Amino acid sequence: MTIAFIGLGANLGDAPAALRTALQALAALPETQLLRTSPLYRSAPVDATGPDFYNAVAALQTRLAPLALLRALQAIEQAAGRERPYRNAPRTLDLDVLLYGDERIATPELTVPHPRMGERAFVLRPLADIAPERVSAAQLAAVAGQRIEVLN
Ligand code: ATP
Ligand code: CA
Ligand code: CA
Repeated sequence: MTIAFIGLGANLGDAPAALRTALQALAALPETQLLRTSPLYRSAPVDATGPDFYNAVAALQTRLAPLALLRALQAIEQAAGRERPYRNAPRTLDLDVLLYGDERIATPELTVPHPRMGERAFVLRPLADIAPERVSAAQLAAVAGQRIEVLN
């Protein structure tokens, strides 16, 4: 069993509803338990365009291998109507593998830890809420200038 952390984001349509549905889908994955869910955050688009994002981070305990987990996340994105018209386009749902235990993975399809998580308050803040040992004070300080608010 491995503890994996998943970053959730959405900024099209009813984004909070999309995240709630996605959390239910994560909880229903085979060989997987949903351990913890962060509060919901709202953040300004960083590299992306469009309306504000809603974000959260979930902790899973899973027997799925990393690539199987990625594929399962992509299926949940597809079910939510995810399209990829261009890089960083607005999206109905984005699910990223942030951490997979302590594994380091570098393949064309999957890089873990997520290579851009350290630049993103919308990842680090909710991750720190549910796994403070995985985020340092220096990391949080580095993203302190980004506009983000916690909603619950
Ligand atoms: P970013 O990766 O900067 O957050 P994004 O989430 O918008 O951008 P996507 O279009 O969702 O990017 O994904 C592009 C590709 O990233 C996917 O096809 C997937 O194979 C790859 N990828 C590599 N590492 C990861 C990871 N840790 N989690 C999710 N996808 C990953
Ligand atoms: Ca992403
Ligand atoms: Ca993604």
